[in-house]
Amino acid sequence: MYNPKVGDKLESLDTPSMIVDLDIMEENIRKLFSLLQRKGVNIRPHLKTTKSPILAKKLIAAGAKGGCVAKLSEAEVMCAEGVDDILITCEIVGPTKVARLVELFRKYPNIQTVIDSEVGASAIDDALRTSGIETPIQVLIDLDVSLHRTGVAPEDALALAKHIATLPHLKLIGVQGYEGHLQHVHGREEREKECRASMAILTSTATMLRENGFDIQVVTTGGTGTAEFCATTPGITEVQPGSFIFMDSDYRNAVGSYFSHSLTILSTVISKSAKERRVTIDAGLKTLTTDSGFAEPMDMPGVTYVPMGDEHGWLCWEDGGRDVAVGERVQIIPSHIDPTVNLHDFYYAYRKGVVEEIWPVATRGMVQ
Ligand code: PLP
Ligand code: MN
Repeated sequence: MYNPKVGDKLESLDTPSMIVDLDIMEENIRKLFSLLQRKGVNIRPHLKTTKSPILAKKLIAAGAKGGCVAKLSEAEVMCAEGVDDILITCEIVGPTKVARLVELFRKYPNIQTVIDSEVGASAIDDALRTSGIETPIQVLIDLDVSLHRTGVAPEDALALAKHIATLPHLKLIGVQGYEGHLQHVHGREEREKECRASMAILTSTATMLRENGFDIQVVTTGGTGTAEFCATTPGITEVQPGSFIFMDSDYRNAVGSYFSHSLTILSTVISKSAKERRVTIDAGLKTLTTDSGFAEPMDMPGVTYVPMGDEHGWLCWEDGGRDVAVGERVQIIPSHIDPTVNLHDFYYAYRKGVVEEIWPVATRGMVQ
């Protein structure tokens, strides 16, 4: 039976496999922490990228203050594995999910979640009242800072804060305002300008809430494309970048190569066209996502990747470009890292061509 192990050479891995260059990943982590830590903010990396408590612990060892997850089901896995300083960045709505939240909170009182409606706040308060748990859960108001995905409008934040103050099982500790629409704005100056505008909405709302007597300790925001600007905005206390650890081609095209590609998909050329300048590899839609453009062959200038269905992809090149042979193994850079990781069961982390660690993608598929 195929049973890849630590100590195996990369050449012996079957394909497609998701592989991580540890030297590059560790350098990405070092760069992020040295860039942001001197700005005096907490770094709470978003674990929607790695989906792995093992990697969450590496980030915490590097200086992270816990982590963010998108979904409650991810929080359940992280907490069970000992990563329990967790902010759930999506609203928890509906009786089934609220009941799950209460059970998680009973065991892990450090978890935090976001709220953007009175009805959502009241439902969590009601469930906690009947649970018999006495300590309140820490919540943050989710603010719309122009992404228009979730979050209350700034002018409605005070009313929501006042409502939360009437609910004894909720403790308002802060404000979240994520500017996801700005992460991939091309050009540093433009990205910074738009980010500062979103940060002004976030920090002025936090100030307004404090002026009205609310104890706003946490002001959290930011991703890989903006964290540096968020961290230098007075009033921001915490940043949430995720993708920096592996990067992807979409991010590199927008923000440049400060962070490098540490994760690629190792695949094999399985067929070659007799007539066209192209070969077919064993990586298609089940291996690489396409929502942010097509993936890219690594270190193969002039060669492009085109998905050809579930299990296949083309590598094509121009006249005079690099020829590719059947049996060659190629590394493909994902275009969007988070959903690509979600397609794989394991990471094979290597150094100098040898598998050093194997990490399960523990929260793969956890969309609830
Ligand atoms: N914070 C929130 C709320 C997010 O939704 C995301 C990503 O979607 C991030 C932070 C991390 O962003 P990135 O992976 O782009 O660094
Ligand atoms: Mn993403």
